[in-house]
Amino acid sequence: MVLAQLGGSISRALQQMSNATIIDEKVLNDCLNEITRALLQSDVQFKLVRDMQTNIKKIVNLDDLAAGHNKRRIIQQAVFNELCKILDPGKPAFAPKKGKASVVMFVGLQGSGKTTTCTKYAFYHQKKGWKPALVCADTFRAGAFDQLKQNATKAKIPFYGSYMESDPVKIAVEGVERFKKENCDLIIVDTSGRHKQEESLFEEMRQVSEATKPDLVIFVMDSSIGQAAFDQAQAFKQSVAVGAVIITKMDGHAKGGGALSAVAATKSPVIFIGTGEHMDEFEVFDVKPFVSRLLG
Ligand code: GDP
Repeated sequence: MVLAQLGGSISRALQQMSNATIIDEKVLNDCLNEITRALLQSDVQFKLVRDMQTNIKKIVNLDDLAAGHNKRRIIQQAVFNELCKILDPGKPAFAPKKGKASVVMFVGLQGSGKTTTCTKYAFYHQKKGWKPALVCADTFRAGAFDQLKQNATKAKIPFYGSYMESDPVKIAVEGVERFKKENCDLIIVDTSGRHKQEESLFEEMRQVSEATKPDLVIFVMDSSIGQAAFDQAQAFKQSVAVGAVIITKMDGHAKGGGALSAVAATKSPVIFIGTGEHMDEFEVFDVKPFVSRLLG
């Protein structure tokens, strides 16, 4: 279910409840079941949805609500709060400081949009007066360096990589050192992806991470991967210290559920979303407006 449809289904469920003359246990259950169905169809992980339903039932005790209280409003607010709670891991991501060199390492499966997102992230900061630089430590995919080079050139961002060197750790270390010397304040390391969550990918990520000591590791996830989101995000988190998430391809037929699962699995906030193939199709992620939009 795409984002707009999810918002529609949830607000319809709340509306139906609003239309009921009396709000009793059955009306509340029907409403929550409807919302549950919408969230599951939108790829929110089953356990998250089940916990949310239990929490809402705990908060909204119909018997205890004094007569005259706006029960509909209370339920609506409870749904809003629960969705916000899932998306807010309770601690903000490391925030690089302008003028002070920070290393940010990007990880994710091949095709997730990692390389594109590295440039978007660099471009976003460059527009705000930062001095970003891109390092291509993906020696696995043929053409990865060319792609990064092309993007970086278009955005006028310095880059580092090699056609000859096959050791990603060596390239990463050299790139980071060079850009530190050049006083870049945001050194972005693009790492290799694989089609599957293979051990060799995780081992390589661990090595690059140990060698470059990133201040922040960003996990990039394609929003269209469906119910696989939780397990995939968790597998990355178990291998490297993921500290933030970027969800790509939120345009088109994007489902919102993956974002909730990725946060739950990594205990890290979503910081940006990708909304298209172009460099400027990139938005800061804010929990409350996102949930408001979700609820229609
Ligand atoms: P990588 O293998 O993870 O580095 O993925 P790429 O950066 O090469 O991206 C894979 C494909 O996804 C490319 O065709 C990108 O243009 C596309 N892509 C990346 N981000 C987005 C996005 O936010 N929206 C859309 N529609 N396409 C995207």
